[in-house]
Formats: sequence, structure tokens, C-alpha cells
Amino acid sequence: MRRKLVVGNWKMHGTLASNAELLAGLRAAEPFVCEAAVCAPFPYLASCVLALQGSHIALGAQDCSAHEQGAYTGEVSVAMLADIGCRYVIVGHSERRAYHGETDQLVADKAKAVVAKGLVPIVCVGETLAEREAGHTAEVVKRQLSAVIHTLGHCMPQAVVAYEPVWAIGTGKTASPEQAQEVHALLRAQLRAATSHADQMRLLYGGSVKADNAASLFAQADIDGGLIGGASLKAADFTAICRAAL
Ligand code: PEP
Repeated sequence: MRRKLVVGNWKMHGTLASNAELLAGLRAAEPFVCEAAVCAPFPYLASCVLALQGSHIALGAQDCSAHEQGAYTGEVSVAMLADIGCRYVIVGHSERRAYHGETDQLVADKAKAVVAKGLVPIVCVGETLAEREAGHTAEVVKRQLSAVIHTLGHCMPQAVVAYEPVWAIGTGKTASPEQAQEVHALLRAQLRAATSHADQMRLLYGGSVKADNAASLFAQADIDGGLIGGASLKAADFTAICRAAL
């Protein structure tokens, strides 16, 4: 039985004050049946660690460097994220692939750097609207996941995979539970071919998940929780989504 995981991706939002209010709201709503985590912007991770002391809500980052350390101005290493108390690191979010030119191999290298320090990479895969309309969804997500499978090797089961159709992110358009399940089943099959632990791995869905559609998405056989953008910024909304993950 896989315990569901619900992760908030705050993206480039928040202030010290609004983060404190959000985390206080989430803490007041604990405990959840699912595992819950929030991925905050880098400058706020330290204050989030303090605000989450004694809580079961885990902390994550939204990106990391693929390098271990060195002359990489502006980059943040996984060792730093581990040092400060992060458990999760999102890698390969479509916004990073689209706006920062991240390739499948760079995403895989980042996932490897995360695993090397004992943290959990949340590896995002997903097709654009044009790719879906051209009938290329399966090919695209399999290619993205394949790079990670080959780079992580026997460590693959330590990763979480998030299927995030690009056309559903921040658009208010959600994949139907059946559309999402269809891709999750493909990804699960690909993982089964690579590791005997595929059935223990968690596959999250992300893309305009809200309180009112979360339960039907999370009820699908291969959907083990969600990666939540916009709806993770309000305690009441994120709490309702966590409560829908049973
Ligand atoms: C995301 O950014 O990972 C995401 C799923 O965003 P939203 O929930 O706002 O679509």
C-alpha cells in the first residue's frame, strides 16, 4: 500500500509574513492521512524549517544544481538543501525545462545529485498541448522518464515521479482522472520494466489540482498524490487537497 504524498510547489510566491501565516494554517490542520510537503523558494527555506519544527509536514526545494560544489555562481547544491533540512527536491519542472532550457539529461543528472545526498527527487514529466494533439504524449513522457531511469540505475526506486501535463499547469484545465490514469499506467509499466520496486514508487499528478477535483484524481489506481501549484498557496485549499488524499 503506497501512502499518498501531496506536495505544494509555491513557485516564486510568498513573503516571510505570508509564508508564516500559510504554515501556521497547515499546522493547525494536521495531522493528515497522507504525507504532506511544501517546496518553498530558496531564500525562505531556513525560516520554513523553523516554522515546521515538530510538524510532520516535510520541506522541499524547487530546483537544485547538478554539481556537487564549486564555482557555479547562483546555484544551490543538494548538500546545502540537505544541510538545512530539506527532504524533497523538485527536478525537471516544465517551467524549468521551458524557460531555463533544461534537457532530459540535465534533469536526470539533477535527480542523481539529489539521490546521492539521500534526498528524494520529485521528477516532473509531461507533454505540451501541441505534443498531446499530435498524439505524442506517450513518446514524450517515456523519453523524459527514460533519461532518469538510465541515469539513476538501481537508485530509481528512491525517486518520486510527477506527471504534469504542461497544458494543465496554471491554466485551470485539469486532465480528467481517466486521462491522467492512462499516462500514470504507462509510466508505471515503464518503471516495472526497469525495477522490481515500481509498485512501491509514488506517482503524483500535477496540473490545476483543486479541492473539488482532487478526490477523483487521487482515486485512480496509479495516482499516489499530487503536486500542487496555485492551490498550495492558501492553507484552506491545500488542507482540503491533503484531506482528499486517503
Ligand atoms: C505546478 O506548478 O507544479 C502545478 C501543478 O501548478 P498548478 O497546480 O497551479 O497547475
